[in-house]
Amino acid sequence: MHSELAGIVQRSRRIVFFGGAGVSTESGIPDFRSAGGLYAREYGGLTPEMILSKSFFYLHPEQFFDFYRKHMVFPDACPNAAHETLCRWEQEDKLRGIVTQNIDGLHKRAGNKRVYEIHGTVHENFCLDCNAFFPLKTIMEAQGIPRCPHCGGVIKPSVVLYGEAPDKYVCIGARREISQADTLIVAGTSLSVEPAASFLDSFSGKNLVVINRTPTPADRKANLVIRGNIAEEMKTES
Ligand code: NAD
Ligand code: ZN
Repeated sequence: MHSELAGIVQRSRRIVFFGGAGVSTESGIPDFRSAGGLYAREYGGLTPEMILSKSFFYLHPEQFFDFYRKHMVFPDACPNAAHETLCRWEQEDKLRGIVTQNIDGLHKRAGNKRVYEIHGTVHENFCLDCNAFFPLKTIMEAQGIPRCPHCGGVIKPSVVLYGEAPDKYVCIGARREISQADTLIVAGTSLSVEPAASFLDSFSGKNLVVINRTPTPADRKANLVIRGNIAEEMKTES
């Protein structure tokens, strides 16, 4: 692990980790804004932001699910060294919580319990008409638009689309954790999606650490900026 990061972690009692898509790139899930990310490609003249919007979902569900299954869901991806370190910190009672913009569910899969998934998760899906629950498998195995076997309604992933507001209670919990943290580690996010980015304003603790390959708006306030690979910088020997 990065030596200065290790020192801060050792002195901290209430760490909160705030992460984005860059946390999962080492698990084989592309982010949005890196050179090889989803934004660098064209999808028939549409941007990922247009396709992943609430209005597009309701107007063109078939195209939405086609893109979603191809580019947003990676059922075989596994947690990487960063996810594993965070799980260890929670077990050691150092880490108070993870606030993530990711929808891949990898923090929970790594074993973390206190995870605020502010943009939802691909693993929870509900019928828009009768509210029945469905696992990811139902979405992945469906041909075209996934439909509820009970009532025929469209099944919608509980991911927060552009134009939708994140869950109020998840946001309140996430902001409370950040406000009570002594150390906030911000990693793998361009901080360009609101309201997620403004969550950092709730932090008034001692150490702000940023781990990101490219510059972020949080760098100027940080005590430590690590311009490296998250999985490598956070890796701990077992
Ligand atoms: P982003 O793509 O805007 O930014 C990712 C940042 O991480 C970039 O600044 C990039 O330089 C950095 N980065 C990438 N890999 C890195 C690595 N290994 N080490 C260090 N830095 C690395 O992502 P965002 O800010 O999270 O916003 C994207 C939105 O899209 C989020 O709302 C998120 O929900 C969603 N999304 C989620 C996933 C996922 O669940 N894994 C993947 C793609 C997009
Ligand atoms: Zn139904």
